[in-house]
Amino acid sequence: MHFKGLLQKDGWHGGADVTTDDSGIIVSIAEADADGGDFVLPGFRNAHSHAFQYAMAGVAENHSNPNDDFWSWREAMYKLALEIDPDQLEATAAMLYSEMIRHGYTHVAEFQYLHHDKDGTPYSNPAEMASRLIAAASKTGINITVVPVFYKTGGFGKPATEEQRRFVFDNTEDYLRLVEATARECGNYEYANFGIGIHSLRAASADEIVAISKEGPGDVPLHIHVAEQLREVEDCVAFYGKRPVEWLLDNAALDERWNLVHATYLLEHELTGITDSGANVVLCPTTECNLGDGIFSLKHFRAHGGSWSIGSDSNVSLNPFEEIRLLDYGQRLTSRSRNTFGETGSRYAIESVFDAGGRATGVSGDNFFEVGKPFNGCVVGSDHPLVSETSMSNRLNTIVYCSDPTLQRGSIVNGRASVAGELNNEIGDRFAKVLRELGNR
Ligand SMILES: [Zn+2]
Repeated sequence: MHFKGLLQKDGWHGGADVTTDDSGIIVSIAEADADGGDFVLPGFRNAHSHAFQYAMAGVAENHSNPNDDFWSWREAMYKLALEIDPDQLEATAAMLYSEMIRHGYTHVAEFQYLHHDKDGTPYSNPAEMASRLIAAASKTGINITVVPVFYKTGGFGKPATEEQRRFVFDNTEDYLRLVEATARECGNYEYANFGIGIHSLRAASADEIVAISKEGPGDVPLHIHVAEQLREVEDCVAFYGKRPVEWLLDNAALDERWNLVHATYLLEHELTGITDSGANVVLCPTTECNLGDGIFSLKHFRAHGGSWSIGSDSNVSLNPFEEIRLLDYGQRLTSRSRNTFGETGSRYAIESVFDAGGRATGVSGDNFFEVGKPFNGCVVGSDHPLVSETSMSNRLNTIVYCSDPTLQRGSIVNGRASVAGELNNEIGDRFAKVLRELGNR
């Protein structure tokens, strides 16, 4: 495949010719004429998604309640969670993943807590729902990391509610059996792997959090939602006498394997505790904006060398450039200054999303494109004058800050090009049918 420019960690190379073998592994990256072709960036790693929530994207925006917030949104989300069956989940995820590929995501980490049948009884295959996500990934070709999630309590020290019945386990042993079953399901798709997860501090006891982190597989990524909402922080302080991240630092031996999703509310010692531990943070700017969560202190986190990736979370937006822009603009607005990402601008952001996204999805690799590694890229058109007439030093920033999705040409996933606008009719038709069945739009 020929490209006008190929982005590596040290900047643009190009033109470039990339060849792959039959499995999509890069065999060579050669210098070539810079005439013709598009630009290729590393494929984006989406470190946090809840596929089923895509079916409610955009339908929680008529706000009759003047105090509409995260918790009222959660009620609408629970309604959908109780409704959706395995076939519908698979159809929804297939549509979602094909749209992610169209926008430049080539890998998704699914934080999967919708486990049981509608009445709360486990399916005969405990990993039934995870298997449907893997089937959807296989249909679209995206790389997937399934993160089965432990969930037990309905708040700090409180039993789960009836509406949480599809999420909850009686004990950590049952959860660890699900992890094993999920690992087996990953064997059905070459590009699937797994992690482990705990929904949040409010959904598990202290003993359970420690047990899962110690007794679960030790060589896979571990994900947890943390400190997303102020009320959650206050409830945690009331129950444990500590803030959520404080508690994790004191009790859970945080390290590089941990991925703290949101971490919106941090005090100075919590922020440096995370960076000292090597743990990663997963930021989901469009969802955090949409739900009114708050703004993560990225400038400060970067100053301490913090490791962060992005996730599309509720899937209200599937555009990785929008996540990066919004993240930056939140910092600029709150700091009333413009330098969020430092000297290399958005290249710093792309690098952080790549590296920390790799840790969140259990994928290794140093540079964006390397011989011997799978070819995963986000393709950006070179025909718009704003891009074609721009120097290498401003090209990526122009793409990140000034492009719209018409420039996004799709992705190359494991060596296979998937072109924007090539919407698979069968996937679209099945998803449309599911939306009509769900009747929530
Ligand atoms: Zn989430």
